[in-house]
This record gives sequence, C-alpha cells and structure tokens, in this order.
Amino acid sequence: MRLFTVGPVEMYSSTLEIASRQLPYFRTSEFSDMMLDSERLIKKHTHAPKDSRVVFLTASGTAAMEAAVINCFDESDNLLIVNGGSFGKRFEDICAVHGLRYTSVRLGFGERLTGERMSEYDRKGYTGLLVNIHETSTGQLYDLDMLSRFCRSNGMRLVVDAISSFLADPLDFEGSGADVLILSSQKVLALSPGISILIISPRMLDRMMEIDPGSYYLDLKSYMHDMERGQTPFTPAVGILLELNSMLHIVDGITVEKKIESVAALSSDFRGRLCEIGVRIPDYPLSNALTPMMFDGNAMSIFEELKDRHGLMVTPTGGDLKGILLRVGHIGNLTSDDNIMLIEGLKEVLK
Ligand SMILES: *Cc1c(COP(=O)(O)O)cnc(C)c1O
Repeated sequence: MRLFTVGPVEMYSSTLEIASRQLPYFRTSEFSDMMLDSERLIKKHTHAPKDSRVVFLTASGTAAMEAAVINCFDESDNLLIVNGGSFGKRFEDICAVHGLRYTSVRLGFGERLTGERMSEYDRKGYTGLLVNIHETSTGQLYDLDMLSRFCRSNGMRLVVDAISSFLADPLDFEGSGADVLILSSQKVLALSPGISILIISPRMLDRMMEIDPGSYYLDLKSYMHDMERGQTPFTPAVGILLELNSMLHIVDGITVEKKIESVAALSSDFRGRLCEIGVRIPDYPLSNALTPMMFDGNAMSIFEELKDRHGLMVTPTGGDLKGILLRVGHIGNLTSDDNIMLIEGLKEVLK
C-alpha cells in the first residue's frame, strides 16, 4: 500500500529505524539537551523570534489548537475564525465549548479568502484571529501576509495553525507578526502521530500570564516553565521526540528552503500529469502539501477502487465534499515515480 495521505504519511527509513529502538528514560540531562536542541531547530526552521517559546505537547494537533485558544483568550476577547472547511469549523467548535465569543468568516466550497472579504470585519472590535493557514480539508492556502496586515491594522492577535503547511509552503513566523504557530508530528515531518508543537511570541507570553486556561493538562505555563531546562511536566511521547530531533537535523542539513522546494516540485509534477488526464483541480490558491481532485459525486467509489484494486491510498474528504473531492498528499517519502503510479491507477479506474 502506498500512502498519498496527509498524515500519517509514508515515513522515511531513518524515522522507522528510530521508532524500532528501545526508548530511553527521559528525566536525564541527555534528554533535556536533545529537547533544547529541538527547540533551537524548530525556531530556526519557522523563523521564530529569538525570545519566543516552544511547547512540546503529547497530543494530536487538535489539542494544540484547543491549548492555543484557552491559554491565549478569555471572555473579554471577541474572536474571528476563518472557516473554509472542517479545520476552521474545529476552531469554532473549540470556542463554543469554552464559551468564547466568536464570529466566523465562512467560505463556501471553491470560494477564495480575499482581502476584500476580510475588510467586512475591519474596525469591528475583534481581538484575535484563528486561522488554519492551509485548510487541509479543501487544500486552500490562505494569504498569510494579507491576514497579518489585517491583524496588525486592527491590533488583533493572530493564531496560525500551520500543521499541514509547515515544510510544504514558505513560512516566516516573525515576519508574519503571528503570536502563536501550531505544528504537528504526522504531516510534512512524516513522523508518528502524537506530538504537537506550539511556538509562542514574546508579546503573547505577557497576555498568557494573565489568563486561567481552566485546564490542568493543557496549561501551557507549566510546559514553558519546564522547557526552560528542556523538560516537560508529564511523560511525553519520548519516541516521537527522538524521531523529531533526527528529522529536524535532516531538514537542517538540506535547508528548509530546499525541503519546501522538493514538496513543491512533487506537487507540480503531479498537477501537470493530472491535467493531462483531464481531472479537474479547484482554482483557489493551493498548498504544496496536497492536490484536491474534483469528481462528479463518485469520489468515494474511486477512492475504494484505488485502495482495493491498486494498493494506492489517497485521502477521502468528509462532510458535504465526500462525493466530489479526493485529496492527494505530496508529503512523506514519495517520489515522482509514485506520482506516475497513481496517475496510471487513476487512468484505469476512470476508464
Ligand atoms: C491534521 C491537522 C490538524 C490536527 O488534526 P489531529 O487529527 O488532531 O491530528 C489540525 N489542523 C490542520 C490544519 C490539520 O491539517
């Protein structure tokens, strides 16, 4: 089975080798040193400000989204949420559960997020914006520069979920003026699922000190305190943190820019081939991480046939888009030969 998914994805042999080893004990100076080294590389790879803080959370990405919301905002806030798909909807659900005030910028399928659309929300007293910079359920990549200008001119804090975009699309945390950046292990990093990372700006830190998150496990103050010495308050997913440190060094060796270029090259190779066989792609801006393919109601049967007859696992889409959208991931250990194999499989199935 070849995985053209968005997480978990095809893992690299170096990661699989680490995953097969006995775990070390973690309350040691060796483990602390590794964590501080990972923190340094995470900041480097995201262009984070020097005095920003990094939290390693043992949880899937959704917990990091929830942690960002409850640690950075309270009842005095009035939030804006970009909801162009299921991950934007998840931010809404999190705010609803915690009784936070929010308004959503809802996009219909195929609708692109423009500065003009955002201007409807200008000067309306919003205090923060929550956005999944790559809305993974549709593949749309939003314009971070436009959103950060909007937030800056409105004095709003900006929380960017870059879980499926980090290492696939260019990202400059400091340049964007964002306050929180959220990453996760199982997407472009191609590690086991279970570790999520929050990077917090110095400006956000001051505000966080005044907020009671109303959660024990997700109180980020304790994580930041322990991370000063390279530790976590609770037993972390030790093995994934070892996988992470190794991958951060691999990326450092080839450089973040080259890593992003390789994902971009794989996606543009696939999109070119897809165009040749007449499969349609939406016309909104796309992340390099995945290609959405449009069908006329038969997406699920195409998904099943690719999986069962050809051993090719693409990513189905939930909700309203179930019948019309399949997504092809370009992340993890894949090459253009895999693209050719998938195109051949698609040709067969579509005959
Ligand atoms: C994958 C992903 C998440 C995390 O989802 P989990 O199922 O909790 O791992 C969050 N946001 C985006 C944009 C994602 O692509």
